Amino acid sequence: MELDLQPLNLMGAENKRPFVIAGPCSAETQEQVMKTARLLASKGCRIFRAGIWKPRTKPGGFEGMGEQGLPWMKQVKEETGMMIATEVATPKHVEAALNAGLDVLWVGARTTANPFAMQELADSLRGVDVPVLVKNPVNPDIELWIGALERINGAGIKRLGAIHRGFSSIDQKLYRNAPMWHIPIELHRRYPNLPIICDPSHIGGRRDLIAPLCQQAMDMGFEGLIVESHCCPDSAWSDAKQQVQPEVLDFILDRLVIRDSQEETESLTALRRQIDELDDTLMNLLTKRMRISREIAAYKKQHNMTVVQTGRYSEILDKRGAQGSLCGMDPDFVKKVYEAIHEESVRQQMEIINK
Ligand code: PEP
Ligand code: MN
Repeated sequence: MELDLQPLNLMGAENKRPFVIAGPCSAETQEQVMKTARLLASKGCRIFRAGIWKPRTKPGGFEGMGEQGLPWMKQVKEETGMMIATEVATPKHVEAALNAGLDVLWVGARTTANPFAMQELADSLRGVDVPVLVKNPVNPDIELWIGALERINGAGIKRLGAIHRGFSSIDQKLYRNAPMWHIPIELHRRYPNLPIICDPSHIGGRRDLIAPLCQQAMDMGFEGLIVESHCCPDSAWSDAKQQVQPEVLDFILDRLVIRDSQEETESLTALRRQIDELDDTLMNLLTKRMRISREIAAYKKQHNMTVVQTGRYSEILDKRGAQGSLCGMDPDFVKKVYEAIHEESVRQQMEIINK
């Protein structure tokens, strides 16, 4: 389904920085909210974020201040002139947020993963003109993400954006939520006009990863950033490890290299041509490999042999995995490539055998 979009209009056009939404994970106290907001405003930040309702993995944690925190957000808007943004997960949140004058709403990763909740949210937004940003679902399912965007868009919200906040996985390594960049890249390929904003705080889960992730997002052409910033990160009531002080955020943003994505240099064109040629060679080699595979199938049929010979298959996977390592590739990647090739090869051999 096509998305019917209008520009988000959240950008500071005169600013060479990307547009940035910054603020604490959660609104904790009036003092913490105002102190953080004043510091951020003094650094030129235009959109302030704070979680009012916090979805927590387990009960018993800090679940946000709820409606009690809304007047503090209002005060931020009145006193600093910044726009204010928060997460909504239910129609009640939407109603309360809109009544308090919230300028931007976002949908959290746990909500995006639930189509019933998304539809209820969408219904509650019908007839309202407010920018809505939809975070990716916690699981790496692009269709679920698109479905959530479609539901909100279907309710008439045209100022729509996506937030990439990474995906949870059992084997977490460096990141709190694996970036799996190919997913937002695919989203961009399908919907080139949909702005995508990167959330380095929830991807990284660690302060020292904010700067490199912001730079990576800019290099990939993301439109903006949403970064958690707290006046006293160490004493934050949620996500303490990933929040940075406003001065630190300013330092990070100041050093970002923003490249001009429109400019395609001659050397880039030449490199892309080389890639195209190599892809042609790869396709030709694969075609040749499949043809030989079919010849093997004819031989197997003649000699009454089974199609899959597991010994041979494991030998290929092991040999090529080790070779991949020596060539600087991840052995798991090489294994996946060979599994896919083998699957297609078996499919083609079955056609011959059953002819
Ligand atoms: C947040 O932005 O504070 C938040 C709860 O994020 P997510 O939905 O990405 O976990
Ligand atoms: Mn958070």
